[in-house]
Amino acid sequence: MDIRIGNGYDVHALAEGLPLWLGGVQIESELGCIAHSDGDVAIHALCDALLGALALGDIGKHFPDTSDEFKGIDSKILLHRTMELVEKHGWRLGNADITIAMQRPKLASYIIRMRETLAEVMGVPVSAVSVKATTTEKLGFVGRSEGCEVFATVLLFSRE
Ligand code: MG
Repeated sequence: MDIRIGNGYDVHALAEGLPLWLGGVQIESELGCIAHSDGDVAIHALCDALLGALALGDIGKHFPDTSDEFKGIDSKILLHRTMELVEKHGWRLGNADITIAMQRPKLASYIIRMRETLAEVMGVPVSAVSVKATTTEKLGFVGRSEGCEVFATVLLFSRE
């Protein structure tokens, strides 16, 4: 059985008065992501990890932010389409591990819903999806609440 590893990284700038979506879940927050899509930076990093594992390019190649088709799009649709690509190429997800770096709000109470939501979209058990949140101790652009940064790692197994 073959295995593949992939990593993804994404950043979005934050601004007041925008909705905040992370891991497919709407978060109560004064700040939301500036984006062409719904700005779900966690899903974007996850999609890039899945695409990266298969050397299929990145999310911008598959879902360009210049296209009206993807304006304001629910990123869960992008994740679902990315998983269809993974399956079409003969692979399945072993597990995913996501780290969200954000100074505020606190995300702890949303973690389980993010895991459940992402697992459902990807068609895997909740135990295969890890979501972790950290602040950066007020350091850097994350610490100043100028942006939200996400790292994602996935392991894929060949279906044969
Ligand atoms: Mg993005």
